[in-house]
Amino acid sequence: MAVGIWVLNDQLDLLQAALASSKPDQARVVLVEAEVSLRQRPHLQKQILFWSAQRHFAQELRRHGWTVDLLEGESHGEVLSTWQHDHGITELRVMEPADRPIREAIERLCRKAGWNAELIWLANNHFLWSPAEFRDWAGSKKQLRMEFFYREGRRRFDVLMEGDEPLGGRWNFDQENRKSPPRGLEGPTPMWFKPDAITTAVIRKLEGLQSLHELPGSSRPFKWGTNRVEALDVLENFITTRLAGFGPYQDAMVSKQTTLWHSLISPYINLGLLRPLEVIKTIERRGLEEKVPLASLEGVIRQLLGWREFTYGLYHHFGSQYPTSNALDAKAPLPLFLQELGGSGMGCVDTVLTDLKTSGYAHHIQRLMVLTNLGLLAGLEPQGLTAWFKAHFIDAHDWVMQTNVVGMGLWADGGRLGSKPYAASGRYINKMSDYCKGCRFNPAKRSGADACPFNVLYWDFMARHAVRFRNHPRMALMIRQLERIDGDELKAIRATAAGFEWAQPGQPPCS
Ligand code: SF4
Repeated sequence: MAVGIWVLNDQLDLLQAALASSKPDQARVVLVEAEVSLRQRPHLQKQILFWSAQRHFAQELRRHGWTVDLLEGESHGEVLSTWQHDHGITELRVMEPADRPIREAIERLCRKAGWNAELIWLANNHFLWSPAEFRDWAGSKKQLRMEFFYREGRRRFDVLMEGDEPLGGRWNFDQENRKSPPRGLEGPTPMWFKPDAITTAVIRKLEGLQSLHELPGSSRPFKWGTNRVEALDVLENFITTRLAGFGPYQDAMVSKQTTLWHSLISPYINLGLLRPLEVIKTIERRGLEEKVPLASLEGVIRQLLGWREFTYGLYHHFGSQYPTSNALDAKAPLPLFLQELGGSGMGCVDTVLTDLKTSGYAHHIQRLMVLTNLGLLAGLEPQGLTAWFKAHFIDAHDWVMQTNVVGMGLWADGGRLGSKPYAASGRYINKMSDYCKGCRFNPAKRSGADACPFNVLYWDFMARHAVRFRNHPRMALMIRQLERIDGDELKAIRATAAGFEWAQPGQPPCS
């Protein structure tokens, strides 16, 4: 029997379950660089990171004594079939993919005529909660709320606890972590890297494929880390320069300050270069040793032990039909400015898209309160926007984006994830950013030629969904405010909204 281990490109960890099931002299490892993945038009920065990190990991495996084949080709099926025959592989071990479509694709591949190896799944060990453990926690609860899942995680993994009680007597410091940015706010300089020979070769390869695939974004400068050593350096840099300041301005948005105090470790954890519990425990230990304010420390732990695990758990718990959710019947196609990464004319949107174009990154509030907020208000079709997020963000995977975009951003799941839509007008963006200064629209206006499009769309959204939300405990207030808007003004607002290229098709301009 010849054993092969296929390491998927987001499983780049020497301790991942399929590698842990064997020893270097007992199996042959394969990694695949397939051009078929370019058909989804991933951002260049993302694809460079994925392929470069995979090539670096192949080197790391060889240093640890593994026999490694890094296959390049058009499709996974094509190169793996040849590899399997050439090496007489009779058993193929794969750690369960985090993403459902990838698991389905692998199963299809191994059912094809001529495929001889038995497929063996190993349980994914890149998350702290397995899908089965999450299912047990969810049980028959009517509402699955992150806050209660997170508290259970704190207890289960003994993080920031004093016996059975949360350290400092509180579970949640959100209220202290939502400060507006003062003028001139600047975060610490992030840790970036120069591309080495491996990364440069990947950049050249992808630039050579550009004429075929027209991938979005810029390939240069490329500054992300591409291996575990660099990922650990980023974690260390975060702890020493940004952890203490993470809390207060974690929701702030500042032009030319995309990263502020954000950790920038999500791309590395999601590729397997960092392990979630090592990150959580290191941040907890160092944060306590260095007397980091508890609000900042708890804010970071909440992202990792709370949101990351909750998102993954829900993705598997909700199942394969979840991506078809469209509770608000949103049908509008993606506006051109999202596909072209700029040109909306809105200061906030264009600032975020400009950052995204060069780095493949925007922080969670830019994603939630600018981009998906726009999608929610404008009624963009959920899977179109989810696919856009998956392709463009450096840390995006199906398990991340289905629940984040469909559920949290667009409320397309009808409230299975969040109790109310995250709908916000230009007032919120003006309060939490400096984007409105210099924008040709006025964040204080909801009608007229210079009315902020977020205000126009916000009231149009409330009008479109007034019946649904009139008795909703957390939305009724907004509907009552809507009803106080003068009839002629509301007509004008809705006519303006209908004039936007991304306006909800089929909706009358007033009702
Ligand atoms: Fe965005 Fe409106 Fe502010 Fe312009 S005025 S930056 S469109 S929120």
